[in-house]
Amino acid sequence: MSNATHNATAYDAIVIGGGVMGCSTALHLAQGGMRVALVDRGPLCREASGVNAGTLTLHMTRAALVPYAMRAWQMWMNAEKWLGMGVLATHVPGLTLAFTEAECELVELRAKARREQGAPIEVITPERARVIEPGLHPGLLKAGYCGMDGFASAYLTGRAFGHALKLAGVEVLENAPVEGIASGDAGHVIRLAAATGRAPLHARRVVLAGGVWLENMLAWLGVQMPIKVLINQLIITERIRPVMRTVLSVANGLLSLKQFANGTVLIGGGWQGEGDRERGGVEVRPQNLVGNMRLAAYAVPALAEARIARIWLGLEAETADAMPIIGDVPGVPQAYVVGSAHSGYTSGPFMGRIMAQHILGQQPDLPLFDPARLVGMPMPGA
Ligand SMILES: Cc1cc2nc3c(=O)[nH]c(=O)nc-3n(C[C@H](O)[C@H](O)[C@H](O)COP(=O)(O)OP(=O)(O)OC[C@H]3O[C@@H](n4cnc5c(N)ncnc54)[C@H](O)[C@@H]3O)c2cc1C
Repeated sequence: MSNATHNATAYDAIVIGGGVMGCSTALHLAQGGMRVALVDRGPLCREASGVNAGTLTLHMTRAALVPYAMRAWQMWMNAEKWLGMGVLATHVPGLTLAFTEAECELVELRAKARREQGAPIEVITPERARVIEPGLHPGLLKAGYCGMDGFASAYLTGRAFGHALKLAGVEVLENAPVEGIASGDAGHVIRLAAATGRAPLHARRVVLAGGVWLENMLAWLGVQMPIKVLINQLIITERIRPVMRTVLSVANGLLSLKQFANGTVLIGGGWQGEGDRERGGVEVRPQNLVGNMRLAAYAVPALAEARIARIWLGLEAETADAMPIIGDVPGVPQAYVVGSAHSGYTSGPFMGRIMAQHILGQQPDLPLFDPARLVGMPMPGA
């Protein structure tokens, strides 16, 4: 047995990356009886999983992922039961708005594709939409309606998972950047940054859950897989009077809108800022800020009175076919990867659960997404 692997069974599994995907995987592995460590270079859920818009949506989830998102939606709404602590998950209806003929067509198409996958989405008249959400712009032509929608406060995600992981006996190592993995017959040796002062960690299995940093992590294991980095901008307003009570999006996908109980309104929709994988999100793009605000104030005219309190940026991962990677790392025994799910906050808890079921040798509740399909596939437009 080599030095690199002599103590490789210290943990049954080490999960690298403490976002929603890694936390859920680690929790379910521990609940399945494994001895688990979860390692993050920062605090738990302080990247995408802690700074996202918190929309728990079927409207914006890719049609093929709807069955996953529906199960995860139930998990979020019942977070107190399985995490022991909530994330202020709030059940409100979701409306996708159409203001042009092209958007009407899109609303119909999107609703049909998602309904076929089980989402309770119907297309409704503007009159009915305004009964549900009275503050909508009079130019509304049609809306997609989903009763199974809502939002959470994403910044609470790390606290909730931290609590549950501790109770489940997972050893959580925060502020511990991983710098590489040596894999051998007996398992994996995980090398931490020298500044942590920690010896390498040994495990039978390793799970990569690094969000946009999965590209680097897979490269440690010799697997080349491009992961696109989206630099999403979000805007939060100062508190204003109640102006809306649903989650709103626009058929073209460029708006997501909700008002929290404290009166602040969160405005997003994937408008891009400046940044990259190495530096993170570093700068707001002012023209995108204005575009996003204009669209929000068009959809709900009362938002014209709202003033911006803060803007921030977060990094979202996307694969070459825009579908998740959940399964075995190609060519590396006992190594697994989970991530890159579109609307990944919504479906994250369930994606972690099926990853864990596979590792535990159980039949996953729904099929995984084999990472092998992407090896060698170039990123479109690259
Ligand atoms: C601004 C924004 C808004 C979004 N809005 C929504 C929304 O409203 N609804 C929705 O469903 N989805 C939304 N998403 C998508 C969703 O947030 C992500 O899909 C999901 O959180 C990804 O989770 P993850 O665990 O895969 O990645 P992450 O949460 O990014 O976790 C990866 C972890 O890996 C750690 N890591 C990286 N490198 C190392 C290393 N070398 N060593 C140790 N640890 C490492 C990081 O510190 C990080 O904690 C949004 C994303 C963004 C950025």
